[in-house]
Amino acid sequence: MNNSTLQRYQKEFAGKFGGGSAFGFWKGRVALYAILRAMGIKEGDEVIMPGYTCVMAVNPIIYLGAKPVFVDIDPKTYNMDPNQIEAKISAQTRLIIAQHTYGIPADMDAILDIGRRKEIRVIEDCCLSMGSTIRGQMTGTFGEAAYFSFQWNKPYTSGLGGMALTSNDDLGQRIEELCEHETCEPSSKQINLLRLQLMIYRSFIYPKTTALAQETFRTLNKWGLVVGSSQSSEMTPKMEPDFFKRMSGMQASAGLRQLGKLDENLAHRRKMRALYDRFVDEHGWEGPKISDDADPVLVRYPVRVGDKAEALRRASGHFVELGSWFECPLHPIETDMSAYGYHEGMCPEADKASHEVVNLPCHMRASESTAKRSVAFLAKLANAK
Ligand SMILES: *Cc1c(COP(=O)(O)O)cnc(C)c1O
Repeated sequence: MNNSTLQRYQKEFAGKFGGGSAFGFWKGRVALYAILRAMGIKEGDEVIMPGYTCVMAVNPIIYLGAKPVFVDIDPKTYNMDPNQIEAKISAQTRLIIAQHTYGIPADMDAILDIGRRKEIRVIEDCCLSMGSTIRGQMTGTFGEAAYFSFQWNKPYTSGLGGMALTSNDDLGQRIEELCEHETCEPSSKQINLLRLQLMIYRSFIYPKTTALAQETFRTLNKWGLVVGSSQSSEMTPKMEPDFFKRMSGMQASAGLRQLGKLDENLAHRRKMRALYDRFVDEHGWEGPKISDDADPVLVRYPVRVGDKAEALRRASGHFVELGSWFECPLHPIETDMSAYGYHEGMCPEADKASHEVVNLPCHMRASESTAKRSVAFLAKLANAK
C-alpha cells in the first residue's frame, strides 16, 4: 500500500505543476540531496545560494564535498540579489539555487539569464513557496528542478516530508535510479513517532494555544517521543548513515489530504497577505516588496522590528505566534557558520535581516483577527519598521 500511495501523491503533486516527475523523500533536504546527486555535483564544485537560508539547505552540498557560495539578499525582497551573483561565479561554479524566501518569488528572469549566459544550471528552493507565480507560471517550474518541504512550518505539512520535482526527463530518470538503488526506508519507529506528532499537531496547534502546543512538544521531547525535524547532529556538516530516506506511505497519505485542500489553503494565504499589507501600511511600515508580475503565496509574513529578542520574548505572553526565522544567515542560531564557510559580514543585508525580521502566521488557523492582533502587538512594542 505504501508504494502505491506514494506513487499517487507524486503524480498528483506533479500535476499541480502541469506535469513532470515528482519524487517523495523523508525531508526536503533529502530531496535536494537527490537532485544534487542526480546532477553529478561533486567534490570541488561550487554552488551559489542566498546567504539567508536554512542550514539544512546547505548540508547536502557539503555532504557531496562541494562548496556553498553565499550571495547577499535584496533587503526588500529577502531573495538573492541577482546583481551580486556574477561576481561570485568562478570556473568551479556548477549550480545556482534560487530560493523563494517566505514565498516571495526570486527574480527568475535575471537568474535564468545569468545561468544561460554562464552555462550554469539553475534549480529552485520552493520549501517556503507553494503556489506563488510569476506571470501566472508556478515557482518550481522555472529551473531544471525544484525541491519542496512539508515540515511543520511550511506551506502545508505532512509532519516531515520533501519532494523533488523536474520536467527534465534525463534528470528525472537519474533521480528515479537513485531512489531505486540508494535510498533506505524510514524505520517503523520513526514513522510511528511522526504519526503521533501529526495527531497532536492536528488537535493542539492553534495560534492561541501556541504556548500550550510548545509545552506539549517539549514534554514529548523529554520523553523521547518527538522525531525532531532537525537533530543537533544535523547542524553540523556530517551526513547521518540513514540520511537518504524515501517518503513513507503515511507521509504520502497525509500529503495527499493536504494537496486536496491546496486551493483553499492558497486562497487563504493570499487573503492573509492582503490583510497584513493593509495593517502594516496603516502603521506606515513597509511590507516585503513584490515585483509587479508576481503573485506570491506567503508562508509567513515578514516584518522588521527594532528589538527582535524583546518581541519574541513578549509574544507568547500575548498569544502572538511570532516566528523567528531566519535567526542567522544559516538558520538556526546554533549553527557554527564558520564550519560552512560563512563569516559575519559576508552578506551584510542577510546579517541585518536576521537581527531584525520576525514573521507572522498566514496558515489556515490564522484569521483577520490574528493579523490585527499580531500587528497591534508589534505596534505596541513601538519598534516595527
Ligand atoms: C525548511 C527549509 C529547508 C529544509 O526542509 P526540511 O524538510 O526541513 O529538510 C530547506 N530550505 C528552506 C528555505 C527551508 O525553509
